[in-house]
Amino acid sequence: MNIRETNYWLETVQEPVRGASGPLPEDIDVAIVGGGYCGLSAARTLAKRGVNVAVLEAENVGWGASCRNGGMVLTGMKLPVPTLIGRYGRELVQHMYAASLEGIDLVEQIVREEGIECAFSRCGHLEVACKQAHFHAYAQAASCIKDEFNHDLRIVPKSELRSEIGSDIYFGGMVDESSAGLNPAQYVNGLAKAAQRAGAILCEHTRVVDVKTDATNGNRRFRLQTSRGPLAAREVLLASGAYTTSATPALRKKVIPIGSYIIATEVLPAGMARGLSPRNRMIYDSKHFLYYYRLTPDNRMLFGGRAAFFPESESTVRESAELLRQGMVGVYPQLRDAKVEFVWGGTLDFTLDVMPHAGKISGMHYGVGFAGHGVAAATWMGAKLAGTICGDADDNPFSIISFPGAPIGLRSGHTWALPLAGLYYRMLDFFT
Ligand SMILES: Cc1cc2nc3c(=O)[nH]c(=O)nc-3n(C[C@H](O)[C@H](O)[C@H](O)COP(=O)(O)OP(=O)(O)OC[C@H]3O[C@@H](n4cnc5c(N)ncnc54)[C@H](O)[C@@H]3O)c2cc1C
Repeated sequence: MNIRETNYWLETVQEPVRGASGPLPEDIDVAIVGGGYCGLSAARTLAKRGVNVAVLEAENVGWGASCRNGGMVLTGMKLPVPTLIGRYGRELVQHMYAASLEGIDLVEQIVREEGIECAFSRCGHLEVACKQAHFHAYAQAASCIKDEFNHDLRIVPKSELRSEIGSDIYFGGMVDESSAGLNPAQYVNGLAKAAQRAGAILCEHTRVVDVKTDATNGNRRFRLQTSRGPLAAREVLLASGAYTTSATPALRKKVIPIGSYIIATEVLPAGMARGLSPRNRMIYDSKHFLYYYRLTPDNRMLFGGRAAFFPESESTVRESAELLRQGMVGVYPQLRDAKVEFVWGGTLDFTLDVMPHAGKISGMHYGVGFAGHGVAAATWMGAKLAGTICGDADDNPFSIISFPGAPIGLRSGHTWALPLAGLYYRMLDFFT
């Protein structure tokens, strides 16, 4: 196989945003660590509200998960609603679910207002059941979501599944028409340009290596050391996701970085592409070790999964190509001869309770834990945290739930136990 180990989405970005030239600002109202959806959405909102804000990004703006993902703009959260209600109660989960719907609306609004060309489309998502029991659980979840949130999901029995997907391996499906799809790299690039237009300073290749606080005459100030020199800020927002480093050790202890990998085929004939996904849905299956897949706007099959549990490296990316190709052919035997042209990986920010979290840690604001729902959720969270920083009432449902630390062995920088966790989930997939 002659596969390019590079992110297909990046090839579609016409005019990458350029960060600010010249030295770092010395003093700023708000310093944001991380230039992905969360940091840039916060920067856009803050700048529009007249706040002096700088985004400090270790690599290029958008370099992290935000340019590498599947581009699925999904309703809901990672965990099933009945599980969430059991854990947090009805009222709080209603707020969380509403936030997930607002997140999609917000992405759509930003795309429209800022004129971002990123193939945003409300094409809906399809969940497909790998076992009969999973299909029964869909019916329960759909009725619970209708009762609790008055949100409609459509159950698709196996006999009708061909209208949704050109595969016979599943036991049925569930469709949510509110979800959307987009080109993630074009979206993050457009979001960065929007933040910049609003007045945010984007500092690329600026790795934050240390943060301290001092107080003079009762005025607290954060002192950030970066690879390009020092910077002082009144407030700091940590939006560093799965790539959170030892510069912010308290947050790093909470983040579980899990690798996810994607392949993209050659451009498929239009008729074949339509046969694979007649309604152009964002699709994922019901396993813990799941596959997620979709067509790209130019009719490639983009097929992703957790082929290795470790954060991405050259070797895990390379190994993933064949594993994912086999997975893809398992779902779609008709792609047996399709050429795989791209493979790449990225790292997801999981937390121990598989929830997004926000709040303050060591005096700094943060938003992390978006896992596979970050396109909408991180955009929403960034805007929400910007509001909190500006003094809006804090009604963020993710800031009042407790945030468990990750056990050593799963933490960023110490991920030796991740393969064991992977094995555990594979066993769960086998038995449940
Ligand atoms: C392969 C893959 C597929 C996915 N598919 C989907 C999907 O289809 N739908 C969906 O909703 N979600 C998906 N996700 C998840 C989604 O991409 C993320 O949840 C989202 O991008 C997180 O955004 P973020 O801004 O929090 O973090 P990121 O985009 O990861 O940005 C964090 C940034 O912080 C920077 N940084 C970290 N530490 C420092 C420091 N000390 N100094 C300066 N900069 C620093 C990093 O360089 C990075 O660019 C996927 C993720 C992956 C990896």
